[in-house]
Amino acid sequence: MPPVFRFAPSPNGYLHLGHAYSALLNFELARASGGSFLLRIEDIDAARCRMEFEEAIYEDLAWLGMSWEWPVRRQSEHLGAYSAALERLAAMGLVYPSFESRAEIARLVMQQEAATSRPWPRDPDGAPLYPGHARTLPQAERERLLASGKPYALRLDMTAAVARVGDLSWTELGQGPDGESGAVVARPEAWGDLILARKETPTSYHLSVVVDDALQGVTEVVRGQDLFHATSVHRLLQALLGLPEPAYRHHQLIRDEGGHKLSKSNHATGLRALRAQGVAAAEICHRIGIMSPSGRLP
Ligand code: GLU
Repeated sequence: MPPVFRFAPSPNGYLHLGHAYSALLNFELARASGGSFLLRIEDIDAARCRMEFEEAIYEDLAWLGMSWEWPVRRQSEHLGAYSAALERLAAMGLVYPSFESRAEIARLVMQQEAATSRPWPRDPDGAPLYPGHARTLPQAERERLLASGKPYALRLDMTAAVARVGDLSWTELGQGPDGESGAVVARPEAWGDLILARKETPTSYHLSVVVDDALQGVTEVVRGQDLFHATSVHRLLQALLGLPEPAYRHHQLIRDEGGHKLSKSNHATGLRALRAQGVAAAEICHRIGIMSPSGRLP
């Protein structure tokens, strides 16, 4: 079977040089291996995603000389597929609702830190692990809170989930931030009881990405090193849901001249802004080390 690659941006801002690098790398790897290249629009966050940004994604990628298969999968049109996956996890007894607001969580973390004089554990992105006790709430109390209309987050019972599937690893064809490559051991427990869905959004990045990669037959996930540690969660969800395991290739992030990560609000590295300044598509490819679509691999 020919390999399947995908570029999966979120339309919550304009693409920058880092996105161009990731997209072109996927495109070139697909071309070099006779595989296919898919574009997926990750627009589950209705509050931040906008049609204007989605249209700009199509325009900017076409300007760079890329083409992809149509129709494009737009995650907002497939919420039912993610709910079905969530229900399967719930049926395994691995999902529970928690009712604390962000401010309450921050306060619980501060209390713990004050009581123990130790920093509360953080996930690989630096966010504190869930400090609450919603997992052990009595069923009647849970039902009362759900019926009250209070906002809630549905969390994965990480300890039970890890116990169910045992040790996991993945094949890393690229490199992690500490040079990890080859067979990498997954450490999903580093994320604690993470959020799988919220009352107003019936899915999360982690859940929809594994459902879609499986559904679209993606064989090699090529993306930035900032998502390297998230792969541990993705492997766990794949194992729980019986989904196939793609290979992963995490690439280095393009940084600005000061060595900072690029952001969608920085005009100096935005593709639209560069185009408006008269920069040619070939110059963009040159700047990020990819000669041109159909040129050489970086
Ligand atoms: N939608 C994610 C982002 O824009 C990327 C998802 C992925 O490649 O797994 O950061």
